[in-house]
Amino acid sequence: MEWFKALKDTDPEILDYIKAELERQRTGLEMIPSENFTSLAVMQAMGSVLTNKYSEGYPGKRYYGGNQVIDQLETAVAERAKRLFGVPYANVQPYSGSPANLAVYFATCEVGDVIMGLALTDGGHLTHGSNGSVTSRAWKSVPYHVDKDGRIDFDELRRLVDENRPKLIWVGFTAYPREFPFEEFGKIADESGAYLAADISHISGLVVGGVHKSPVDFVHIVTTTTHKTLRGPRGAVIMVTAKGLQKDPDLGRKIDKTIIPGMQGGPHNHTTAGIGVALLEASRPEFKAYAAQIVRNAKALGEALKKNGIKLVTGGTDTHLLLMDLTPIGVGLGVFASEALDEAGISVNKNTIPGDLSPFYPSGIRLGTPALTTRGMKEAEMEKIGEFIADVLKEIRNCELPKDKEARQAYIKQFKSDIKNNRNLARIRAQVAEFSGRFPLYPELELP
Ligand SMILES: *Cc1c(COP(=O)(O)O)cnc(C)c1O
Repeated sequence: MEWFKALKDTDPEILDYIKAELERQRTGLEMIPSENFTSLAVMQAMGSVLTNKYSEGYPGKRYYGGNQVIDQLETAVAERAKRLFGVPYANVQPYSGSPANLAVYFATCEVGDVIMGLALTDGGHLTHGSNGSVTSRAWKSVPYHVDKDGRIDFDELRRLVDENRPKLIWVGFTAYPREFPFEEFGKIADESGAYLAADISHISGLVVGGVHKSPVDFVHIVTTTTHKTLRGPRGAVIMVTAKGLQKDPDLGRKIDKTIIPGMQGGPHNHTTAGIGVALLEASRPEFKAYAAQIVRNAKALGEALKKNGIKLVTGGTDTHLLLMDLTPIGVGLGVFASEALDEAGISVNKNTIPGDLSPFYPSGIRLGTPALTTRGMKEAEMEKIGEFIADVLKEIRNCELPKDKEARQAYIKQFKSDIKNNRNLARIRAQVAEFSGRFPLYPELELP
């Protein structure tokens, strides 16, 4: 059967959006470090009849009938997660990373308890107690920070833990280019009696690929999204480690109860199936090679950027991710850089860097190599991409963020319209499209 034929017959408008997005993904350079390209096998599992079934509850204990097959599916996928990460317990039902983290709070804390995570502006995630997140309203959030070199400030962390006696500490970040220091956090949490949860959403593919230390021996709980370096569908897994069950033998059951009936209704069984496929793929030797190449590519890209005069937070990376520090070009230029790069077909995101004053006008760009590596790019391509990026950044070197708020809005609006007519960016855009075209994406996928 031809893929999407029924969709073409029923709803050509939606099919057109899918085709346009496929074309965008094929012709651009996807460098947002939290994104990736799943296999067609993952997508086929997701585009299946499994989406039709309600299965509130857990295998053998469902509220609805007809779950004989779903029970087997969910059990098999949870077993794959346990085996791959080396943990005694896994819940594969969270709808995504944010609800997974919320479930960890409710399973370990009472509302109002003290919790700690890395500050958002220093590379932490919204759900680790940031101001805009409900997690800072329901719990007393005491953020820790990085030092002036961009590494976790352990002196401050120890002091804050002593002073505030948190119930839960998060280790795991969303814009931190260096190895996550699980062992050091483990000691601090043990001394204070806090629960320690590792959120490895960004790096779980690197962990199972053997190129980043695993948190499993040092923490009580592990959460991860499944759609970042792990290269599965959008979803998440919560795991409890042997150390976690030692601290609280009931922890797995508490997490199960928090997910359903606590927070969610029916699990997304088609996603569970896609997660299963991704976990199988991640258990293969090819995935180890993939993970190692992601890191080699990120290091090569870092060197290429530095060679072209671009400053990096911490001077480089241990992982899949880099943070460009644009302050030598100008403070608050992240918006301009990301817009100009987007115009040239390079997708990245603006990001705060240590010391940034405004999260709305950050001075950094976060970028990474998981998706490019999936396309088959290697160190030589990173060298070329470093040049593309440096060329694009030349187009913002005369930008200056106005101090006055209203002047800022007008200035950015003008900038956005100017870059649409920028000949240099158009030329780079064409080069980028030609370059990425040499690394076919989903060549088997022909849409009607
Ligand atoms: C991406 C991410 C999440 C949230 O995942 P969503 O699926 O977007 O809700 C949580 N924590 C960290 C560290 C992440 O990087």
